[in-house]
Order: sequence, then C-alpha cells, then structure tokens
Amino acid sequence: MIIRFEQGMDLVVHLRMTGRLLYLDGETQLPKHTTACWKLTNGKKLVFEDTRKFGTLHLVPAGEWEAVSSLKDIGVEPLGAYFTFDYFYQGLQRKTKIKVLLLDQTFIAGLGNIYVDESLFQAGIHPERPADSLSKPEAKRLHQAIRQMVELGVKHRGTSISDYLDGLGHPGEFQNFLAVYQRTAEHCPKCGTPIARIKIGGRSSHFCPNCQRPSD
Ligand SMILES: [Zn+2]
Repeated sequence: MIIRFEQGMDLVVHLRMTGRLLYLDGETQLPKHTTACWKLTNGKKLVFEDTRKFGTLHLVPAGEWEAVSSLKDIGVEPLGAYFTFDYFYQGLQRKTKIKVLLLDQTFIAGLGNIYVDESLFQAGIHPERPADSLSKPEAKRLHQAIRQMVELGVKHRGTSISDYLDGLGHPGEFQNFLAVYQRTAEHCPKCGTPIARIKIGGRSSHFCPNCQRPSD
C-alpha cells in the first residue's frame, strides 16, 4: 500500500506475511515487534509492526515509486490512484484465468483470495474465464467491485485493529459480509443457487454457478 505524506513523499509499505500498520494514540506503548513508528501531527502515531520481519518500507518522492528497482515486482494498490480503469483493462489483455491474474501480486498488490472471490461474484464473472475474454462493461464492473470489496474489508477490519489494541482480541467483522467465500453449498444471496467450490491454480474458488457463467 502507498501512504502519501503532505511533504511530497510516498511511503510504500509491503506487508508480506505478518506485517501490519497500526494507528495508535500517542500515549500507547509500542507493540513488541515494532519495526518503525511515525509521530503524526495530530498527536497519534503510525506504527509498522512485523513479527517475522519480511515486510519492507520504502520512502520515495511522490509518484516515483515505480522507478525503485526493488519495487518493480509489486503491482498497484487497489485503493490507490494508480489503479485506474485503463491500467486494469490493459492488464486484462492476456489469456490467464481471471482468478489467477487477480491474485498475481505484480498486477494488483494485496488482493487475497477472499477479495478476489467476492469481487468476481459481485461482478458476475466466472473465475476460470480467460482475462482477455471480459468485455469492457464486465471489466468496468469488476474494477468497481474490487475497490468496493477492499473498502468494505478495510472498514470492517478497522474495528478488529482497535479491539486488538484494547487487548480484547475481537476478530474483524468483514466475514459477515461475504457472499460466497467459504460458503460452499449455502444459497447465493442473489439467486438462491448453492455456492460451488473449485480449485484454480491451487487455490479454492467460491462462486455461484448461475450468476457467474463460464464464457461460451
Ligand atoms: Zn447466484
């Protein structure tokens, strides 16, 4: 993800496996595995915590992170300014199955299995369709769905982060909003058809066989 500072710098954060960003009150004690901490002008602090230390931080001039060689293999952030429809549609012009392509971190950074399954469902697109078989309207729906799902996920995971800091350890609430992910055999919220599960590229894929038809 990319955080833009007012001073004209971008902080590029690659969470990898265990890294996470915490937004804490100024007084709160730093977590045990704190790697970096920024004091913010509103008195809060932004903390990067990473148990296994695989995560990376890069401070670069605004908009120039693509020039940093070690970042070349990281795709754009789905809520960021670079995730335009043009970028997305251009990236779709290959035969790769859409599910596999959306999980490719060099295309879009940080989209996991949950977001991909939910976005494909929202857009009504079968996960095994070749990416280049999507029409422009389908690609538009999918582009929008990805942003919406990630926004929803961020919103409901936020709760989990603050609870965690209170020491209550509440899980996030995003799972209550999932339509297909890990809901195999449950009824599709749109049409009532049982949700199916198949393996694509070694990953479980959940979809509605009626709302998400394979291409002809
Ligand atoms: Zn359905």
